[in-house]
Formats: sequence, C-alpha cells, structure tokens
Amino acid sequence: AMGTSNETSAFGNVISPWRRNDGGNAPLAPGGSSGGSSAAISARLCPAATGTDTGGSIRQPAAFTGISGIKPTYGRCSRWGVIAFASSLDQAGPMARDVRDCAIMLEAMSGFDPKDSTSLDLPVPQWEAGLSSNLKGKRVGIPREYRMDGMNAEIAAIWDKGAEWLRDAGAEIVEVSLPHTRYALPAYYIIAPAEASSNLARYDGVRYGQRNLPDGAGLQDMYAATRAAGFGPEVKRRIMIGTYVLSAGFYDAYYTQAQKVRALIARDFAQVWEHCDVLLAPTAPSAAFGLGENSDDPIAMYLNDVFAVPASLAGLPAMSVPGGLDSMGLPLGLQIIGKPLDEQGVLNAGLAIEERAGFTARPERWW
Ligand code: GLN
Repeated sequence: AMGTSNETSAFGNVISPWRRNDGGNAPLAPGGSSGGSSAAISARLCPAATGTDTGGSIRQPAAFTGISGIKPTYGRCSRWGVIAFASSLDQAGPMARDVRDCAIMLEAMSGFDPKDSTSLDLPVPQWEAGLSSNLKGKRVGIPREYRMDGMNAEIAAIWDKGAEWLRDAGAEIVEVSLPHTRYALPAYYIIAPAEASSNLARYDGVRYGQRNLPDGAGLQDMYAATRAAGFGPEVKRRIMIGTYVLSAGFYDAYYTQAQKVRALIARDFAQVWEHCDVLLAPTAPSAAFGLGENSDDPIAMYLNDVFAVPASLAGLPAMSVPGGLDSMGLPLGLQIIGKPLDEQGVLNAGLAIEERAGFTARPERWW
C-alpha cells in the first residue's frame, strides 16, 4: 500500500503493460500502490479490480495506465479484511475500464458493515442508473493552487482540455482557491506514517502473522527479529518516521500541527463547495515514470502524490479518468473531486470527460 510505483510490494513489482513510444523498451511503473489492479485492467486481463486508496493509490495507478478509478467518500466501502495502513485515510474502491463499470462496481462494494466502525450507515445510491453526462447547471471549480510552479506543460494542457470538455457538457467553469493545498503533502507524510506505525505495531510476532524466534531469543529479540524480517524497507522507513513524529518530544511539533493543517484543508474544501459542485485537477504531476527511476529518492516518490492527497485528507470522493496521451504515448489522468457523499456528481463529470476525450488507446501487446 505504500509508494506510487508498485516497487515496494512484498511480491515484487508489477510492470506496466504500457511502453513509451521512443522505441526503447524501458519498463514503466503501473502506478501504486494498486498497480497490480491497474496493470491487469489496462492489459485487458480482467474487466475491473479493487484497490485501496490512502493517498491516491486508486487514482494514480488508474492515471498511469489509462483506466478509471474512484475512491468514494471515506466510510462508503468497508475496510474489514484490509490490513490498515492509515486508518483515517484508507478507503477501498473500484478500478475499471470506464466510468460505467466503476459505477457498477462501486454500487456492489458500498454499504454499511458493522465490522468496520468507520463504515457509513447510509443507503447506497443507484449510481449506474443515475449516470448522466449533462452537466447543465453544474459548476466546476479549477483550484488555482494546483497550478504549481514548474508544472509539466502536457499535464497543464490536458487539464485545460478537461475544463473545455466539462464546459461543453454544460457546466460553468469557475476558478476557485484552496489556500492550504501546499501543506497537504507534508501533512499527509506525517499523518499517514504516524497511523502506519501505530497500526503495524501489532505485527510483533506474538499474536498472529510472522514469528521469527532465533535460538535463545528473549521477547525483545523475537519482536526485533520478526519485525526486521517481516517488513520491507519502505514500511520500515514509514514506521520510523511515524514513531518519530509521535514520540513525546516531537508530538506537538509534528503530529498535532499536521492534524491542525488537515482541519484547515478540510475547511478549504467545505468553503469551496459554496462556489462549485465538483473540482477538476490533474491526477498526478507526471505520466508513468520508469521502474527504478524514483526508487532511490523517497521524496521524489512522495511528490507524485501531490494532487491526490488533499481529497484523501478531507475524506472526499475523487476519481481519475483518462484524458489523453502525452508526447511519449503515455496516458494522462484527470481527477474529479466531489462533495462528501456526492459520488454521483463525480461519476457524472467523469462520464462527461470520458465521452469527449474519446480515449481508446490501449497498450500494445509486447509481452
Ligand atoms: N502513494 C501514497 C503513499 O505512498 C499513497 C498510497 C496509498 O494510497 N495507499 O502513501
């Protein structure tokens, strides 16, 4: 569940079915963390798959592979049976070839589950029946702060196209402001590791899961051996960051501050809904990168989440749909963020883009 490249999977990384059109055969990341799902759908191995999205792991792999994926409102889909990464952010959702399949899947996956204390006890709307790409009377907000310095020109261009498509579907496009956007990524990379360190403390070799008991080991040795052998490097990095930001001397400086920032980000969104019904933004700051390209630089990897984490921190429904291909022939995703519980609004805007983008590209079969 960690990372945006799928390279931190305990089973080894998945390779994207896509290739750049430069004649090379460099293996690309299928996105992450749900890169197995995205690769399988885009290679037409299956019509749809599930993913979990803590800070973009449904949306970003969907964007990297030219498919659709929706993270519903926090609490819509049960987390029961999913190993917790950051419980206050984790949310399951569907990934599929198109918006309609996402709606069908989401309807089947949503609903109250008494086994998940954060599950919402609300009726599940008929999202598929409610699909409509007529956006007359709807306002689409373009968040000014997402247009960051040094933004990839192709991402900026597809974003502008997305706005045009939504205007063509009848929506009014308005520029809006989410002033605390720049603090979302740092806040996420405090809150998510903090919750991960707490959640993963239970994997100590005592109660369940792996146990490593070296000869003559005491209890502490068993904990250490089990955790050293059972967690991979990225998980260990996050546990260490999380333990640090939760430690007595630093708790207020990091964790409490991050929680305050989270509240401000949620408030930004709450205020923006007075001006628009959905938001349009890029899903990721780049097209798929090559496997290995970011793996020595965790910060570069974390930066790929910049557009995905604000909606996660606010618990909002958000979807990625393919917008087009970049000059390297790789898919670029557009993200729609909606009001709490307004998956229908998100799906409908996604459908309006899908109908106009005419995205029919598929990875060439090279394997
Ligand atoms: N890429 C983000 C991270 O590494 C999000 C992962 C996810 O959504 N599971 O934390």
